[in-house]
Amino acid sequence: MNAVSDLKITKIHHWIGGQKHDGVDNKLSNVHNPATGQISGHVQLASSAEVDAAVASAKAAFPAWANLPPLRRARILFKFLELLNQHRDDLARLITAEHGKVFTDAQGEVTRGIEIVEFATGIPQLLKSDFTDQVSTNIDNWTLRQPLGVVAGITPFNFPVMVPAWMFPVAIAAGNTFVLKPSPIDPSPSLLIAELLQKAGLPDGVFNVVQGDKDAVNALLEHKDVQAVSFVGSTPIANYIYETGARHGKRVQALGGAKNHLVVLPDADLDQVVDALIGAAYGSAGERCMAISVAVFVGDETAEKVIPKLIERTKTLKVLNGTNLDAEMGPIVTRAAHERISSYIDLGVKEGAKLLVDGRQFDGRVAGEGTDTDTSGGFWLGGTLFDHVTPDHRIYKEEIFGPVLASVRVKNFGEAIDLINNHEFGNGVSIYTRDGNAAREFGRRIQVGMVGINVPIPVPMAWHGFGGWKRSLFGDAHAYGEEGVRFYTKQKSIMQRWPDSIAKGAEFSMPVSK
Ligand code: NAD
Repeated sequence: MNAVSDLKITKIHHWIGGQKHDGVDNKLSNVHNPATGQISGHVQLASSAEVDAAVASAKAAFPAWANLPPLRRARILFKFLELLNQHRDDLARLITAEHGKVFTDAQGEVTRGIEIVEFATGIPQLLKSDFTDQVSTNIDNWTLRQPLGVVAGITPFNFPVMVPAWMFPVAIAAGNTFVLKPSPIDPSPSLLIAELLQKAGLPDGVFNVVQGDKDAVNALLEHKDVQAVSFVGSTPIANYIYETGARHGKRVQALGGAKNHLVVLPDADLDQVVDALIGAAYGSAGERCMAISVAVFVGDETAEKVIPKLIERTKTLKVLNGTNLDAEMGPIVTRAAHERISSYIDLGVKEGAKLLVDGRQFDGRVAGEGTDTDTSGGFWLGGTLFDHVTPDHRIYKEEIFGPVLASVRVKNFGEAIDLINNHEFGNGVSIYTRDGNAAREFGRRIQVGMVGINVPIPVPMAWHGFGGWKRSLFGDAHAYGEEGVRFYTKQKSIMQRWPDSIAKGAEFSMPVSK
């Protein structure tokens, strides 16, 4: 069954001030359907002129939007929520067409984005402040949180709906106006989001999209009217965004890359472990920042029991066009990513890891019955499995961001913890065990931001906030949840006293409660 009909996308433009906006110098980049390798559209790449126009539009919209009662902003988000639910599959189709991920996975992505909008509708409660009556005689003190102004979001290719939704719903609910710079690899969902926001009644200029590459990013980072930047992408760029944004006086949260481990203790349910590893390593072709890319087996015996099953399952993955509802894994997002992942597989072999399943040998043959997919074009790879990977291998140290699972064997639980804590990244991690004590100790000692206990991909719910540790996140605030609300607002403290208590003469010592 085919879930997606042909999408005729020709020109993918910017969205500024509530309408489509054409770039002045018309710099374009090709958008591909990764399943066929065909060009499906041309996305405009903004210069500083379009960034200036978008920021100006957001700046003009800010005073009225910030002044609107939070309840009324929330009502617009409620309407948007309704429209998002109606258009969930349209968004998922766009994701599959440009990213390549399996349609059901794309639907899941949209759902996780919708959850953040649900959270953001609670903004009247989230902005409720605290008040202290009578801090001194006839004096009260309270705090309030106010929006920052124009804020920007720069997002990666791998979640073209969910990651923008980590940012803009909370930002605009809090009274900011927003400029989104999506990935030029899969830019179309951003425009459907813009249209739905407008239909929901969002005033023009509150949400803008500039399509583009690093030129657009640099223009945003340097723009004097952008108060804060949220970034999600690879670690080198996250680091750059953090430093450059800070140098230009902006508040920055920059989420980076990952290498996520799944620890298997000998007492774990090993069938569950196999399911977890297969889904978390190869789902979305491993192009998730929370994908599991390292299986850590505690004890050789544990590894020997699991690996034969992993080999079998990796070889029989249904690697198909994501439009096919039988697909378990789709293509790789771009030719360049395909080449990068393939060269990491070459490297792993050279480094001496044991290649058990070689995804480079995927020949376009459909692994599964009754399929209707032609995989002759496109950027295809099968799942890859390595064993006997060691901590000094580059395929262990570096983020591959593809369907490559590395098995590392350790002697005991403590060695598993040390291995993970010594890694440069600290985004997600998971442990499989039946031992409550071990799981508790793991949760407390591990130097990673998001931990799963018998859960392979522990992406926190909308009200808990998302973020890694170490070089997986630059800045203080995690995305969405209460940290998101704090990131997009600044605190003000107000102390009041009214005239009948004032005429008592000047005080020169530090005021204290009287
Ligand atoms: P990327 O870093 O290449 O791109 C991210 C964004 O930065 C895009 O909008 C891109 O246009 C822009 N960009 C790219 N090069 C730039 C440059 N030189 N200067 C300024 N801006 C630039 O990342 P990607 O390939 O789109 O996404 C995959 C990466 O994102 C992986 O490393 C993955 O782990 C990471 N990621 C992290 C999280 C997280 O929450 N930690 C979530 C999703 C993805």
